Amino acid sequence: MTRLFNFSAGPGVLPETVLQQAAAEMLDWHGSGQSVMEMSHRGKEFISIAEQTEADLRELLAVPSNYKVLFLQGGATLQFEMVPQNLLAGHPSADYIHTGEWAKKAIKEAKAVGKVNIIASSEDRKFTYAPKGWTPTPGAAYVHYTANETIGGVEFHQTPDTGDTPLVCDMSSNILSKPIDVSKYGLIYAGAQKNIGPAGLTIVIIRDDLIGKANPTPSTMMNYKTHADADSMHNTPPTYAIYIAGLVFQWLKAKGGLAAMEQVNIAKANTLYSYLDSTAFYNNPVEKADRSLMNIPFTLKDEALDEAFLAGAKKAGMLQLKGHRSVGGMRASMYNAMSLEGVQHLVNYMREFEKQHG
Ligand SMILES: *Cc1c(COP(=O)(O)O)cnc(C)c1O
Repeated sequence: MTRLFNFSAGPGVLPETVLQQAAAEMLDWHGSGQSVMEMSHRGKEFISIAEQTEADLRELLAVPSNYKVLFLQGGATLQFEMVPQNLLAGHPSADYIHTGEWAKKAIKEAKAVGKVNIIASSEDRKFTYAPKGWTPTPGAAYVHYTANETIGGVEFHQTPDTGDTPLVCDMSSNILSKPIDVSKYGLIYAGAQKNIGPAGLTIVIIRDDLIGKANPTPSTMMNYKTHADADSMHNTPPTYAIYIAGLVFQWLKAKGGLAAMEQVNIAKANTLYSYLDSTAFYNNPVEKADRSLMNIPFTLKDEALDEAFLAGAKKAGMLQLKGHRSVGGMRASMYNAMSLEGVQHLVNYMREFEKQHG
């Protein structure tokens, strides 16, 4: 068996020890005589898994008690619709920060529900920075922003201050990468497959007072109240994905929690950025202060070399370095489960490639 270094933007790399534990427990979970996949979601075994998973997530993020944690499906993409249906409907408008591909999709869906104000945008410089210094529109239901643009590689390193206007955040690709102050947010959502666990699970952290106020009331499955009232068991939840996420949360706790992860993530990102900045052979277009710790896009001096770069990377034991089709070039995604060793391996390969082709 060989596991290669996986730089995929998502579904992303998972901790090897988590996969090993899942493998060991695959046929018989804790002497229950069944796989987690085969359990009733209402049985005591799975309820214990779900409760522990939520408790561990709350501990990792220090989620205040006036917030609900929901385990949903449909990806961050469904949240692009659920957020406005629950929070914008019945209000004059909502504010959105436009930072690239993912923000654009969120904005499109909000516009189908109500009035959207783009109060800041980085489109003027091809989405290569995180706009700051904006203020919410009076009466706006919320301000929505994308904490980390997975494709552009732009990250907000500070939580914006929106005063009394609820802050809504798509945190799909940097949740759990560093400590955050949840109390500054009205709602946080994240698809699991970047930095949490398998695809199929979406996490929503929502302040109590934002639940059940929509007018008109959204349809049953689109209503946060449905899922909050039923402890995310209105219908069958993605049980196996929740179980794996729970193992990842235990792994994060054993690693020292999010403050410790942040240090590792900074070290990994610095390793690649400092090399990128030391040579004209490679280029990252993002403003230094707003560079993502999770997703690092870069181009080669001559794009005719792209194919050789990727083929060589594969040979050297690295997967999924091809950039997003909309921007081209390369992208190295370095979620929590990517080791510093993996990033060093990448930089060594890049240096070698430059020597041969530079
Ligand atoms: C991947 C991603 C999404 C879309 O997630 P799905 O689970 O595919 O719906 C949305 N926002 C961001 C920031 C992402 O990285």
